[in-house]
Amino acid sequence: MCPGTFDPITAGHLDIIERAASLFDELVVGVAVSPEKGGGPLFSIDERCEHVRVAVQHLSNVKVQPFDNLLVDFAEEVGATVIIKGLRAVTDFEREFQMAQLNYSIDSSIETMFIMAIPEYMYLSSSAVKEIARHNGPVRGLVPEVVLVALTARLTLSR
Ligand code: ADP
Repeated sequence: MCPGTFDPITAGHLDIIERAASLFDELVVGVAVSPEKGGGPLFSIDERCEHVRVAVQHLSNVKVQPFDNLLVDFAEEVGATVIIKGLRAVTDFEREFQMAQLNYSIDSSIETMFIMAIPEYMYLSSSAVKEIARHNGPVRGLVPEVVLVALTARLTLSR
């Protein structure tokens, strides 16, 4: 299972999902409903799930599901034994290390495994994409086509 907020899904997320899908028989992408991140998400849970679904439609062993419970409980619910996280620069490490430790202490039957971001996407984040898009900058190539369209529509409306 590959969890995240995906507000919105980026090319970096998609790269991790594609690589995880090639390593496991089945992969569930878990879209977190209520992140405790500043200001709340730009896209609703339904919109974020739909963007991920469209972006992964070429991967036949990937399913997308929203979740609003404890990560290890969601993993158990979908029958996942491994949580896959992407690791970017060292700045991700401290936070991810803490979460992996906590999750392991709650349920040691579920392992967290990390896939390193490729250099091109090492500094790519959903918040950076939103910041660039808000200022009318170029996000093509940083997000799947479905997100490019949605971002343009959302930010044009709010201008
Ligand atoms: P963000 O950190 O961009 O707000 P999420 O909370 O949705 O995104 O992150 C979900 C997972 O995806 C995390 O494990 C995060 O480290 C990983 N991730 C995010 N962006 C990238 C990227 N560009 N390359 C690799 N992994 C990434």
